[in-house]
Amino acid sequence: MTGGLAAPPALSEAVVATFLKSAYGLEGELLTLSGERDLNHLVTLGDERWVLKIAGPDEDHGHLNLQVSALRHLEKTAPELPLPRVRASLAGKDLEVLIDAEGRPCPARLVTYLPGRPIGAVPRATALLSGLGGFLAQLDRALAGFFHPAARPDLLWDVAQAPRLRPALERASDPDIRGLLIGVLDRAEAHVLPKLGHLRAQLIHMDATLDNVLVDAAAPERLAGLIDFGDMMHQPLVLEPALAGAELMLGAEDPLACLRDLVLGYDQVERLTEPEIEMVAELAALRLASTSLIVLGGHLGPLDETAVSRELTALETLERAGTASVTADLKAALHLPSAQTKLFQRRRKVTAPAYEHFYREPLHLVRGKGALVFDRAGRSYIDAYNNVPHVGHSHPRVVNAMLRQAERININTRYLTDSMVAYAERLTASLPPELSQCLFLSSGSEANDVAWRMAWAATGAKGALVMEGAYHGVTDLVARLSPCGLVQGEDDPPYLRRILAPYPLRAADRDPAAEAERALASIDQAIASLQESGQGVAGLMIDLGLTNNGVLDLPQGYLVEAVRRVKAAGGLFIADEVQAGFGRSGDSFWRFQPEGVTPDVVTMGKAIGNGIPLAVAVARDAVARAFSDKFYFFSSMGGNPVCCAAGLAVLDCLEEEGLQQHAQRLGTRLRAELLSLTHPLIAEVRGQGLLLGVELIKDGRSASVEAKALVERMREKGVLIGTEGPDGNVIKIRPPMVLSSDQAERILDAFDESLRSLA
Ligand code: PMP
Repeated sequence: MTGGLAAPPALSEAVVATFLKSAYGLEGELLTLSGERDLNHLVTLGDERWVLKIAGPDEDHGHLNLQVSALRHLEKTAPELPLPRVRASLAGKDLEVLIDAEGRPCPARLVTYLPGRPIGAVPRATALLSGLGGFLAQLDRALAGFFHPAARPDLLWDVAQAPRLRPALERASDPDIRGLLIGVLDRAEAHVLPKLGHLRAQLIHMDATLDNVLVDAAAPERLAGLIDFGDMMHQPLVLEPALAGAELMLGAEDPLACLRDLVLGYDQVERLTEPEIEMVAELAALRLASTSLIVLGGHLGPLDETAVSRELTALETLERAGTASVTADLKAALHLPSAQTKLFQRRRKVTAPAYEHFYREPLHLVRGKGALVFDRAGRSYIDAYNNVPHVGHSHPRVVNAMLRQAERININTRYLTDSMVAYAERLTASLPPELSQCLFLSSGSEANDVAWRMAWAATGAKGALVMEGAYHGVTDLVARLSPCGLVQGEDDPPYLRRILAPYPLRAADRDPAAEAERALASIDQAIASLQESGQGVAGLMIDLGLTNNGVLDLPQGYLVEAVRRVKAAGGLFIADEVQAGFGRSGDSFWRFQPEGVTPDVVTMGKAIGNGIPLAVAVARDAVARAFSDKFYFFSSMGGNPVCCAAGLAVLDCLEEEGLQQHAQRLGTRLRAELLSLTHPLIAEVRGQGLLLGVELIKDGRSASVEAKALVERMREKGVLIGTEGPDGNVIKIRPPMVLSSDQAERILDAFDESLRSLA
């Protein structure tokens, strides 16, 4: 491969002067200029200044011929652009030959000298960079109709050949840098290079570097020209602004702004297509990586890692921002809808308006691992919101268990299958012995739905006690028994009684014991009212995390007393453990356990399948029997072997990875650290284990607007979190159970910083 180290020919000044006279008839003053591959002389003749460029005997004559032909073409198509102009020899040739001492022919050409300072020596003002972008676009337009058979030289700088530079990776001594370069090359091979063939291509300059672009010495905001046509190549057009943009990032204060300014300037003259825009950031990254590897590989001289520090810094900036998000910024600046916006628009067309989305700008997630999720741009976020991926996003053990079972058979529960029985045995073993009868479903809502029907069947009564503000699911039955979405009085079914959610912070006396008493009194009232109306008391259902209420703490002794009163009235206690169960609370596997009560039915969902639809209602024997006597029951999907295999794997992960204990330790620390934050907006820290709530209050009022803004800021800092509670002013921290200490620290830092920035 060529294009690397090719020393200029060694010729004495006398030889050069003789040649200049014989070939061009010129007798000027000679001054040697620097040159990578050519021996360059400034020739001064009165007012006229020329550059005599003599290449070595090994240079590619075809490409030199291309260069002078292209310059001749540009003389006609772009006479207004400040570019070198070729002067023909006395023999009328644009490319002459000088014979060196060893008798070898050295190709030579004479071009006009362009005065000016290299752009690298002046500040990178937006106008200058966008002017350069526009200049390059004009140049490329002027070259559009030009063709030459030597337009595909074998140059190291050909990005399409970048994979050839891989051997140089070994010479990067810093593993982080190696990783950075490997990442770019991998992406290039997988996603970038295969697309280049679809883009419009032509001969382009390909070398608008900090040295080759000249600005007016007296007025550095004005472009004075572009030199060095030695890297010209037939390439995708978009490579021109991408490479120039990458070069202008070097040593810049705001490298990404430089890239953007240049590309926008180019686009103003020559409209780039969307697929071209989508390539810009990746090609810039590839150029920076290629240059680094060319230097590391020793192609430009002895290995010098510091020589590429500017390239690596620029590349790091680009990679940290994420090429996809740089692309999104470019598209936004060019008013092109981002892929995310397009997806959102498509989604809106085909989904009911009931579909909400988090964040002002919807977040498009494509991958998850542990407590991390990744967006389309490859940016990672710590997931402090999602409890469904209980043992971590896409846990390989769960995925594999499910896949293995799916490959064999997936069938309904009217046949015998191993995993359903094994799962029911494992699940009931985690519960008090009275809770022995499982009913399998696909969602928490269905489990709660069935639990109510069990209560109705077992008690013969209809009356339902549910906490004010609670959410229990989406079926018709449980939606009617989820006060959070109902207008009291209007929507409430006649058999529903709302009971007070104990919320000391909102009580005038703020006294938890007194609040517990008031909450219990509301149960007494509800029972009396139901009995009076003839509905009787079928049951009490409580989400033991009091999640939807704003992650409230269960007051000490409240639950045992509440259950006692309901039982005394003939009702059942249904523990909705969809949120709080499965070790999340840390102290116990089930949240009801430390409260000293044994429910009649426990419902669970979400976490137990780690995202695979699996939900169970586990009941006492008599309750399950009453239900079975009264209702026909079959769930096509509930308890199928694939879902149960996933459920078994989740249990394995929980046990083997000690996740309940982890939630206990990490949750305790997180809570303590949250409590230690002394921000005026923080009114209360609640919850336990890895289900925590932080209530924000400003000037005595729910700080709902601030909570919303905080969620957005935390997203910007790479943390996904949500709001909860009747006013949406409670920040809910409810991550996958595999959240690490480091990640917890980062959540805290982001929370703290975001709160401060709101103030
Ligand atoms: N119960 C509680 C306490 C819940 O939080 C939810 C869901 N957020 C459900 C039941 C319903 O579960 P699913 O969405 O799986 O139907």
